[in-house]
Amino acid sequence: MTDIHNVVIIGSGPAGLTAAIYTARANLEPLLIEGEPSSTSDQPGGQLMLTTEVENYPGFPEGVMGPDLMLNFKAQAVRFGTEVKQDKVTKLDTSQRPFRIWVGDPEAPEPTYLAHSVIVSTGARSLMLNLPKEHDLIGHGVSTCATCDGFFFRGHTIAVVGGGDSAVEEATFLTKFADSVTLIHRRGELRASKIMQDRAFANEKITMLWDSEVAEIRGDTKLEGISVRNTKTDELSDLAVSGLFVAIGHRPNTDLFKGILDLDENGYIITGPGTATNVDGVFACGDVQDHTYRQAITAAGSGCMAAIDAERWLEANLSPHA
Ligand code: NAP
Repeated sequence: MTDIHNVVIIGSGPAGLTAAIYTARANLEPLLIEGEPSSTSDQPGGQLMLTTEVENYPGFPEGVMGPDLMLNFKAQAVRFGTEVKQDKVTKLDTSQRPFRIWVGDPEAPEPTYLAHSVIVSTGARSLMLNLPKEHDLIGHGVSTCATCDGFFFRGHTIAVVGGGDSAVEEATFLTKFADSVTLIHRRGELRASKIMQDRAFANEKITMLWDSEVAEIRGDTKLEGISVRNTKTDELSDLAVSGLFVAIGHRPNTDLFKGILDLDENGYIITGPGTATNVDGVFACGDVQDHTYRQAITAAGSGCMAAIDAERWLEANLSPHA
């Protein structure tokens, strides 16, 4: 007979690992299913595994490497008794209690794990251009987060790809650091809100490159430039940039929860009050439910909230005195 875990945490970025630290210290003996190594950002450790230096995580005045930070989070969670499994959840069934969780074959008759409560922290991933070298140069000139990396581009010439609110907001933000920002958009008009467009058009550091897409990313150990194709004429031109910010949208890792948890129109899990989802006993934290802030520190904060919410819920619903 499979043991029933008090709490199973799905996902191992800052949110999931913080939830693990807190639930472990509350003696709930959490099981954390961390995902499987892959080339995308839903890998163990989350998006910070794809970054280099993190300078804005409080407590590290000299900065810290993203992967080191996540290894420290994990060591802290394990120290207090978190059990970690390197597996990918393939099915969650909340129609009966305890909740049933599968890894591996989702058609297997019996679930792999049983849980009284579940914390979902599967994160989100940045959409990428899927060009050669793009992935390898993340943290070496290619970035998906202006808030995180803008500071490294003081005095540089950079480009931002995309035409939505994210791209226009990031381009405007990046002019605080960079000498010049080229906004590369595949069409002749932006999707971004009018007010953000006006702000960008009025910013003399921003140059628009309409009807254009990145055709090639150059550089071996760091970004050395890109080539851009005009989508109307097919003409190629070189752009000498030392930074390329890809801002073409994010996708929350919520395919697993469709039809189970309430999602908003962009696929993010709807939470509230606190980190509660529509299923009693299932909580969500981090980027999987936050498309606004998307920072390691805010994800960690909401992981703490989910742990406290789960602990209180277990106390109210499962304790012998409940
Ligand atoms: P988005 O609105 O989906 O825009 C994505 C942009 O990237 C579009 O302009 C799209 O071009 C372009 N794009 C998509 N795939 C591409 C590809 N493979 N190559 C080149 N370009 C590509 O995404 P978002 O800007 O991240 O915004 C997501 C949501 O968050 C929106 O609802 C937005 O309003 C909101 N948001 C709000 C704020 C704010 O209010 N402060 C800030 C950021 C985001 P097309 O236009 O041709 O489709």
